[in-house]
Amino acid sequence: MINLTEITEKMSPNQKINYDRVLQKVIAEWEKSAIRPTILLHSCCAPCSTYSLEYLTQYADVTIFFANSNIHPRSEYHRREIVQQKFVEDFNKQTKNQVQFLSAPYEPNKFIKMVQEKELTEEPEGGKRCSACFQMRLDIVAEKAQELGYDYFGSALTLSPKKNSQLINEIGIDIQKFYAINYLPSDFKKNNGYKRSIELCKEYDVYRQCYCGCMFAATKQGIDLKSVNKEAKEFLAEQEK
Ligand code: SF4
Ligand code: SF4
Repeated sequence: MINLTEITEKMSPNQKINYDRVLQKVIAEWEKSAIRPTILLHSCCAPCSTYSLEYLTQYADVTIFFANSNIHPRSEYHRREIVQQKFVEDFNKQTKNQVQFLSAPYEPNKFIKMVQEKELTEEPEGGKRCSACFQMRLDIVAEKAQELGYDYFGSALTLSPKKNSQLINEIGIDIQKFYAINYLPSDFKKNNGYKRSIELCKEYDVYRQCYCGCMFAATKQGIDLKSVNKEAKEFLAEQEK
């Protein structure tokens, strides 16, 4: 497998790394070696997975991994999980792909304890709590990917313009040092990836949530979590009919 550090070290120092270019170089190596690797790709709800899957499935066998104990409340977590799984099924039907879907156990107490212990409850969205949140989730993804023998672990979050993809990639590259598995660099929002994700959300009628996930940012943003809970419960009740 290609060494990611070798690629990034050759890029201009003191400049933001274009992780989309890094991914393209990685893919070029796969094509040169005629390999189709396996990827465990983290996603926290369906929108970011849309274009990321459309792009990656051209070159690799992908499994979406829903590992997001940061999401509050529980009903909203399950709503996003179901919508994510349904998108994967619809995407497979439409494109004849065989994307797999896995989800991690929902353990919100672990996330809350981590945030409280690190004194990050009052951090603004995009601050240190988010770095710790990316780290916690990517670590779970790397561990699962190693356990199941995937070639790469990565995250669809780099599609979101609201997320710091430099930071997500730096965390992923750092985490790969602790596992016998490669991190998949990405910046899926590039090449009109974000625009394409909006089109795909319309095409597949995908639910787009109005807040990132945790209670801390949602409260600061003024989100009415009672309404979120009510709507999510109604959605879940519909699924059971
Ligand atoms: S970054 Fe936002 S839109 Fe993207 S998958 Fe996560 S919650 Fe959904
Ligand atoms: S705002 Fe989103 S990324 Fe940041 S800590 Fe909350 S759930 Fe995690």
